[in-house]
Amino acid sequence: MASRSPAATRAVNPKSSTTKSEGRSTKQSADQVWESRAVIKLIEAGSAVECPYCLERVKFRARHRDQQVICNVYENGVWQRVEQYHLECYGDADSPHGEAVKA
Ligand SMILES: [Zn+2]
Repeated sequence: MASRSPAATRAVNPKSSTTKSEGRSTKQSADQVWESRAVIKLIEAGSAVECPYCLERVKFRARHRDQQVICNVYENGVWQRVEQYHLECYGDADSPHGEAVKA
């Protein structure tokens, strides 16, 4: 009966450059902890993101159908950022955000 707002899980203060760690800690339900996730996807045209491992552009190449690993990075249950790795680089980096799974 208690209405939990689902929006609260997503909206993170966008201008949180300072580490305001405490603030109001809404109590998280014990069985839902947000952790970093890594998903394997095809690189899409127009991608313009650097791989954090080799620092090269994760770029789309026609006909290659290269794959990338997209990571949603969480710290302490709070979403921080998205990182995109080359598939090979993610393995070389020793899967920093957990094992990559196919989307
Ligand atoms: Zn790379």
